[in-house]
Parts: sequence; C-alpha cells; structure tokens
Amino acid sequence: MSIDINLTRAQFDEVMVPNYAPSAIIPVRGDGSRVWDQTGKEFIDFAGGIAVNCLGHCHPALVGALTTQGEKLWHLSNVMTNEPALELATKLVNATFADRVYFANSGAEANEAALKLARRFALETVGAEKDQIIAFDKAFHGRTFFTVSVGGQAAYSDGFGPKPESISHVPFNDIAAFEAIISDKTCAVMMEPLQGEGGIIDADPEFLIAVRALCDKHNALLIFDEVQTGVGRTGELYAYMSTDVVPDILTTAKALGGGFPIAAMLTTATIAAHLKIGTHGSTYGGNPLACAVGNAVLDVVNTPEVLAGVKQREQLFRDGLNKINEKYDVFSEVRGKGLLIGGVMNEKFAGRSRDFLVASAQEGLMCLIAGANVVRFTPSLVIPHADIEEGLVRFERAVAKVFAA
Ligand SMILES: *Cc1c(COP(=O)(O)O)cnc(C)c1O
Repeated sequence: MSIDINLTRAQFDEVMVPNYAPSAIIPVRGDGSRVWDQTGKEFIDFAGGIAVNCLGHCHPALVGALTTQGEKLWHLSNVMTNEPALELATKLVNATFADRVYFANSGAEANEAALKLARRFALETVGAEKDQIIAFDKAFHGRTFFTVSVGGQAAYSDGFGPKPESISHVPFNDIAAFEAIISDKTCAVMMEPLQGEGGIIDADPEFLIAVRALCDKHNALLIFDEVQTGVGRTGELYAYMSTDVVPDILTTAKALGGGFPIAAMLTTATIAAHLKIGTHGSTYGGNPLACAVGNAVLDVVNTPEVLAGVKQREQLFRDGLNKINEKYDVFSEVRGKGLLIGGVMNEKFAGRSRDFLVASAQEGLMCLIAGANVVRFTPSLVIPHADIEEGLVRFERAVAKVFAA
C-alpha cells in the first residue's frame, strides 16, 4: 500500500485497526488542564486521559524528570536494575502496606501479574484444586485475555475462543452472593474498591469488611485493582487507605506515570516469594525513563496539600453539578469519591450519557462516560479552581443543549 501521510481524523479509518472510535478533534498541545486542537480550539480537560494525567498536561516537575532522565539513560531491561526503579519501589513500599514491588507498563499487565502470582501462591502453598478466581459483575481489569476474562463484562471477553478457566462472577456489593460462592477452592478475589469503568460504583464499607473476612476464612488472596482509584484519585494515596481493609496484592497504573506508561503490582514479602526467578517478566517493566517520571509523580501527589486539594475540588464539582442538576434535572445522583465523579442519568435521560459527552466537546470541554448511563469526570488532581468553574459553565451549556434537543 502507498498512502500519503495526512494527519486528519479521516486518516484514522484508512490506517488504524477499527477497534476505537476517536472523536472528531485531534489535540496537539496541552498545558495544565487546557488542551488545544489542530484548529486552535481550546478545551478544558475534565477527562485527564481517563484518570491518567493526574498533574494535568506538561507539569513542570514531570517534564523536568523526563528530560533529565532522557539525557541520562532510557532503558536497560531487567538484566540489570536501575536507580529510578529502586527509588520508586522504595517510595511505594514506604507509602503502603506492601513490602515488594513488580513493575509493568499498563494496568492490564499489573493485573495479569497479580492473577498469575495468586495462582502460583495457591498452587505452591495448597495445591492444584485451589484455583478459583472470584470477581464482580461490571468490573474492569484490562484487556489481556486473562484480565478481560476476570473482568465482569461479557461484551469485552466474548468472541476470542476458549477462556482461562475457573473464574466466577457475582454481583458487586452482594455479601450473600459472595458468601455463597467463596470456598477453600478460592485462590483469589479481584476487585476495584470503587468500580470505575462499570459506572463509578463505590464498594459498601460492610461489603469490603465481609469480603476481607471471608478471604481470610478461606485462605484466599484479596487483590485490589487500584489502577483507576490509585495515586491520589480518591483523595488518599490509595483508596484502600480510607477503608477498614488492607488487600494482599494491589495494582496501580494510570496516574502513576501521569501520562507516561508505567504500572506496578504491590504485595507482601511472603506472597512475593512465589514469583521466583524466571516465573514472570517484562522487557520494559521498571524502565528508568518511566520510573523517573513515576518518582516525580509520587513526590508531588503524595503530599497532604495535594491530597487535601482533591477533596476540596471534589466539593466544587459536586456543588457545581448539583446546581446544574437543580436547573435541568438530568442526573438521579452525583456519586464517586475525590476526583472520580459520576453523574448518573435519571430515567428521562437513560442511556444518553454519550450525548452529554458529544455536546461537551462542542462547548470546549473534555469529559468521559462510564457506560451509557454515567457521565464521568476524572480531571487533574491539581486542576485550578478557575478551570473547574469555567469547565462547569461549559458543561452547563452542553446540558442545556441536550435538554433542549
Ligand atoms: C484502566 C483500567 C485497567 C486497564 O489498564 P490499562 O493500562 O488500559 O491496561 C485495569 N483496571 C482498572 C480498574 C482500570 O480502570
């Protein structure tokens, strides 16, 4: 084939696999929580690259870390360790329940490592019969075949032939259903402490306590997928920190690199010991460039000021969205935690979250959806208050448009 290079949205359909349907605009520059497209049109960013750009676009601390490391050393592979990886792993251990860290490049890979580790742990400490993985309806854990099969959306996992076996799903927040299915054959339970893609659904505190207790009773590992909730998103460094439970394994990605691909699986020394030399790996995992950026992200985010700022900003969002809702009555509820916020469509607007996203883009606002019934906001954790206000003004215009249509 011979195709001229043509940097337009139309070119996407000519040269890309059709698994995505990107919007009509092509952004070319970002600064903080503002983004500009090819035509110079400005957007306020309430999407944050799907909860990734936790410090907005081109934050000076991240640009500094990337360029400094970029002039020193980019990549070695895991044949050797490197200083940024040792530093980041130490920071993660010091900040959490964990004693050991495994680095990966994406949320799915961190979850893949967690699931493989859980299976090995059960196999080596009990036996082959302890292989059941329990997960929850609507859960999202990534798109590798193992993680998408553990995820709770058949639409994502069907159509690829035989799936990995011994995976069970139960409704989220349903203690009785969970208790009915867990047994001594359960090797691990994987869950998001607050379901993101599934619709911004928080785990009930009693549910979390029950899951932890039943995991303990049946000697099953509890894996928290904090790929979306982690790194300050909910106003804690990790969401588990505001609950009464501690997981055995935790995965983190998205915001960990603030836009640079990096992920990590955290666990205890006892469990980690079962991922022995040669049992798992990644060429790029823990690469110096990614870890240098991760270090800069943690240094900025894991401070009382930034974490408290998330809760202040949450309030601004809630107040603003509730005010818009009083006028137009489109949401049945505004829910979520920190800067992982969902506006749930009421009956009148059921199934129409995408209409709000499209109208928002026309008004110069980037937001997200979480299924057909939830408009999702996951902005920078340090988004200026003025940008929140202006973004909400634009969102109100979008709501008015959908309302009038
Ligand atoms: C985004 C997400 C993933 C997948 O992360 P990738 O980096 O896309 O592989 C996994 N789990 C949760 C909870 C997520 O939000």
